[in-house]
Amino acid sequence: MRDCHQEIARWMEPLRAQVRVDAAGNFRGFYPAARPNAPRLLIGSHLDTVPNAGAYDGILGVVLAVSLLEELHGRRLPFGIEVVGFSEEEGVRFGTPFIGSCALVGRLDRELLDVQDAQGISVRKAIEEFGLNPEEIPQTELENDTLGYLEFHIEQGPVLEKLNLPLAAVEAIAGQSRLEFTFLGRGNHAGTTPMHLRRDAMAGAAQWIGTAERVAQGVPGLIATVGKIEAKPGAANVIAAEARLTLDVRHSSDEIRTRAVTDLIRQAQEIAIRRGLSVRESTLLSQRAVAMDPFLTGEIEQAILKTGYKPHRMVSGAGHDAMILVEKVPTAMIFLRTPGGISHDPAESVAGEDIEKAIQCGLYLLDQLASSPEFQERIRRA
Ligand SMILES: [Zn+2]
Repeated sequence: MRDCHQEIARWMEPLRAQVRVDAAGNFRGFYPAARPNAPRLLIGSHLDTVPNAGAYDGILGVVLAVSLLEELHGRRLPFGIEVVGFSEEEGVRFGTPFIGSCALVGRLDRELLDVQDAQGISVRKAIEEFGLNPEEIPQTELENDTLGYLEFHIEQGPVLEKLNLPLAAVEAIAGQSRLEFTFLGRGNHAGTTPMHLRRDAMAGAAQWIGTAERVAQGVPGLIATVGKIEAKPGAANVIAAEARLTLDVRHSSDEIRTRAVTDLIRQAQEIAIRRGLSVRESTLLSQRAVAMDPFLTGEIEQAILKTGYKPHRMVSGAGHDAMILVEKVPTAMIFLRTPGGISHDPAESVAGEDIEKAIQCGLYLLDQLASSPEFQERIRRA
C-alpha cells in the first residue's frame, strides 16, 4: 500500500497537488481551486482489493480522478478537487468493510479501532505499524468545505454490457438484508424410510430456495440469493435432520426489500408445517438503501448524453465507499461497463475506449458544475 501511495503521489507531482496519507491510511491529493479557500469536490474510490482480484475494482476510480486533473492541463476551477484513495473498503483483513471512508464521516470510532484481524492485530495497531497516528483520526473528518463526493467504479455486473452502453449514472445503492434459516426435521435411514413417512429438512429447504427465486423473479429490481447451505448429519445415506442456509435480499426500496423478507419467512413456515418440520430464522444484517444526490446524478446524465450515449440510470447492488460518504456530503457515482460482468477475479477487465468515455464524461461534468448556478450556490454556502 505504501508503494501504491508513492506511485500515485508521483503521478500527481506535475499537477502540483498537495499529497498526504491521512491517519486512517487514505491517500489524499489536493488540487487547489482558482481562488484560495474555495471549497472542494472529492473524487476517488478504494485502493485495497480482495485476494485473487482483478486490476480495476476500486483503483480505476482513483486513476480516473488523477486523469481528470491531468486533462485540465493546469486549468483551475471555482472549486478544489481532492483525489481520495480509500483504505480497507473490502473488509478482507478485519472482516469489516469501509474503514477508510468511515474515518471521513466520523465513524472510525474506538469500537472499530478495536476490531482485530486473524492474527489478533487491531485496526489501531495496524495504523500505528503503518507509521500513522490513530489519535489524529478525528482530523481526517470532512470539513464543511466539502461540496460532494464523486466515485467512478466498474459496474461489476452484466447490465451495461447487455444494454451496449459504456457508462451509467448510479441513482441509489441497494439496501441489503442477510438472514440465516434453519429447517429442522428428523434424521433417519435413507434406505428404509418410505417417502411419505419422512421429515426431510433438506427437501424442505430446497422447496423454499425455489420459492425465494420465484418471489424475486416476480418483483422488478428484487434480488434474492441463497448462497450457502449446510446439511446435518451430511451423509449420502441419511435423511437430513437439519438444513441451515443463508438468504441475501437486496432492493433500492427498503419497503419492497423488507416486505419480501417477511413474505419469505412466512413461506418458510408454511413449507415447514406442510412437511412436519420446524424452521427458525435470524437476521444478520439489515442495511438501508441510500439514494445518490439528485442534482449531481442529473448532471452526470447530462454529461453522459454529451459523450454521445443514452444516460442510463441504475441501482448498485454492491456496496461502495459512496454509501458511507453520502451520510455527510452530496454523493454521486458513475459506473463503467464490465466485460462479462466479471469482477473480484483476475479476468476482470475494462475496455480502453470506455475509460476514454469516462474521462470525457468527467470533464463535461466538471465544466457543467463550474458553470451551474445551483453548484455556484453550493460553493457560496460552503
Ligand atoms: Zn470496489
